[in-house]
Amino acid sequence: MIDSLDKLKQFVDLSPDEERAVEAASVYFPWRSTDYYASLIDKEDRNCPIRLQVVPTLVETEGAFGTDDPLDEDLSSPVPGVIRVYPDRIAVVLTSRCPVYCRHCLRKRNAGDVAHDLDEAGFERVLSYIKNDPSIRDVLLTGGDPLMLSDARLESILSSLRAIEHVEILRIGTRALCTWPERITDDCAEMLSAFHPLWVNTQFNHPKELTDEAATAVDRLVSRGIPVSNQSVLLKGINDSVEIMTELVRKLVKIRVRPYYLYQAQTLSGTGHFVTTIEEGLAIIKGLRGFTTGFAVPQYILDTPYGKIPLNPEYIKGRSGDYVELESFNGKIWREKNPYDQK
Ligand SMILES: *Cc1c(COP(=O)(O)O)cnc(C)c1O
Ligand code: SF4
Repeated sequence: MIDSLDKLKQFVDLSPDEERAVEAASVYFPWRSTDYYASLIDKEDRNCPIRLQVVPTLVETEGAFGTDDPLDEDLSSPVPGVIRVYPDRIAVVLTSRCPVYCRHCLRKRNAGDVAHDLDEAGFERVLSYIKNDPSIRDVLLTGGDPLMLSDARLESILSSLRAIEHVEILRIGTRALCTWPERITDDCAEMLSAFHPLWVNTQFNHPKELTDEAATAVDRLVSRGIPVSNQSVLLKGINDSVEIMTELVRKLVKIRVRPYYLYQAQTLSGTGHFVTTIEEGLAIIKGLRGFTTGFAVPQYILDTPYGKIPLNPEYIKGRSGDYVELESFNGKIWREKNPYDQK
């Protein structure tokens, strides 16, 4: 675990100014990395996509600071630890700790704050909330990173959830596959596979993260029937191009990870430098759709206090009479007679 400047300097070249930036920024937001993730940093490249995700910079300290909660998650919490936006599913925040504190994290306000960890009594309250509401059929364990918990604790949490008849599917949101692949041991994967149907969502943002170690971690889950999907964040200077996204999604499907969401980055204190315009994101989706495997194209999403809203390029170009004019991926116009108008 790397959480001191001295250790960090074994993996990155830092100028004296950059060293001061790490210390200044960590007053506001914690930072740390696994040795594995830091070892992916290209020492010489100040714009290395791994470095930008993990090493604090001075821009994080610019602007106003507050307890940023762009999704109003604190307001949509019926019981501590539960975030509820949707009728049939909830997110349960088990911990606010992570193996790596991503500089772009949406939950930066709580990162590393153990006051937000659910203790056993807290989890019991969450459990009764779920038991008392048969409309909850999908429970997403998130954080922070749920894999910060021990296998034994996770096993106990998963078994109590599995015992609730109306909970049809369980999901774990974890970045460990990307930032701490050795966490996914065979024992851990075997333990998880006792709770089918169990789905895992992870977050790879750049092809550099798709190492042999990451592929092995993914394989331990997928080979035991646990589907793994990817939720990337669109990050300026890291993956905001058609070329990088194409390489990322192609490499993901090669290791049997299904690209699921591409999140529009959110503007909150200390993350503004990562945010692209929505038009840039739409252009990337247009550059993927049709040019690569259909199921490799993630859904571009803006997360809001009202839920996730899909952002889609417009393929319907217009209507004339009974006809709808549609644009194909390679720019050809197809005119389709609308059957509803034929009556
Ligand atoms: C993202 C999210 C979910 C899961 O959403 P899906 O679109 O089903 O993946 C559930 N609850 C909350 C609060 C979320 O933010
Ligand atoms: S792993 Fe997820 S919750 Fe943890 S710091 Fe990164 S983005 Fe935030």
